[in-house]
Amino acid sequence: MEDFGCQMNKNDAELVVGRLRDDGFIRCESIDEADVILYYACSVREHAEERIFGRLGALKRLKAEKPDTVIGVMGCMAQNQKEIIFKRAPHVDLVVGTQRFEDVAEFVRELEHKDRVIAIDGGEVSYQRDITQRPVQHQAFVTIMRGCDKFCTFCIVPFTQGRERSRDPQSIEDEVRALIDDGVQQVTLLGQRVNTYGLDLNRGENLARLLDRLGKLKGLKRLQFITSHPTHIDEELMRVIRDNPVHSRYLHLPVQTGSDRILKRMNRGHNVESYRRTIDMIRRVVPDMSMATDWIVGSPGETDEDFAESVQLLRDIEFQTSFVFKYSVRSGTKAARSLPDDVPTEKKKERNQILLAEQEAMSKRLHQARIGEEHEILVEGISKRDATRWFGRTSQNWIVVFRAERDFTGEFVKVRIVDVTALTLFGELV
Ligand code: SF4
Repeated sequence: MEDFGCQMNKNDAELVVGRLRDDGFIRCESIDEADVILYYACSVREHAEERIFGRLGALKRLKAEKPDTVIGVMGCMAQNQKEIIFKRAPHVDLVVGTQRFEDVAEFVRELEHKDRVIAIDGGEVSYQRDITQRPVQHQAFVTIMRGCDKFCTFCIVPFTQGRERSRDPQSIEDEVRALIDDGVQQVTLLGQRVNTYGLDLNRGENLARLLDRLGKLKGLKRLQFITSHPTHIDEELMRVIRDNPVHSRYLHLPVQTGSDRILKRMNRGHNVESYRRTIDMIRRVVPDMSMATDWIVGSPGETDEDFAESVQLLRDIEFQTSFVFKYSVRSGTKAARSLPDDVPTEKKKERNQILLAEQEAMSKRLHQARIGEEHEILVEGISKRDATRWFGRTSQNWIVVFRAERDFTGEFVKVRIVDVTALTLFGELV
């Protein structure tokens, strides 16, 4: 099993692995040993889909040599691209959508007497998982809702994941408690539009109340959530975060563009002014909140003037981090049907580079202001670039690299910031 895409995808892939293990399947180290090869794939970005098709293409020979090997595609991409998958990779046996993945073991068995199994509609997934099956021991992700009701014109999620369905708060609390008992210190709550959590339950539940409830659980050291939409961030939520240090001071709030004209075309439901007001409120209530955002450059109809407004907004808000994406048409979306992809590729690349450079300069400036400060970090492991150093994250999600005599992975330590780059802070143990 290999997964591609967002954290929710990764979490669902973990659920699939747990289900298969419960059914007697064993995870193996290499593709050559495998009887069943599954990809859990995202459809939000063209890049992830192309990587999957690359992987599938490479398996053609293996399938010819070992025809009993099951090759399957699961998740958003399966939901959205089933015909294209079979057309481009006819050796695929199994396509399982976002609401049927729990039954994957049964579908694999059906293939003993069928050529192909396609399972897209008609189910609903539970949230049950084997909490011991997580890739990192001291951190865990917990899915608290699925689906999205927003229907941004460029986005495939509402079509692949369906309408918003919030999970019962008691079952979330039970899972978080079990994770804490199993050694987890940091929990990240997941939802496609996580800050509308609870609204569909129609009984007064919301994200603020859920955070308040979970923040009181003994033993939990850090709690955070992704990904939010700008229209449902209110003072109640910010006050809950302010009043308990367990809540991470990091908010990922995608704005997508600084142009009202393009926001309207995107059906985002907010404009630049309302976004600025939301940021002002956040910073008034939680002054040490670090802000990250997403941008799409080269959206249909985006002019140089529209793009200049994005650059201006990035400068004005002083985001800590920007994730910049070049627009690509996602089949099945409203934009694919009605908005021509009319910005040339070179222009998209150029705008991408400009925004990234702006963000790099901004991040470095913001980081420089941190020199001399002391911060508590949760240590995540050994630095990828330098095996003599370790790295961890502050509550604001800043990465801090430091030297240490022993392995502090999974522990909180205090560091003093002594140097910075645009991406990283360098610290000394205090
Ligand atoms: S809020 Fe918009 S971008 Fe986010 S998942 Fe929903 S439709 Fe997609």
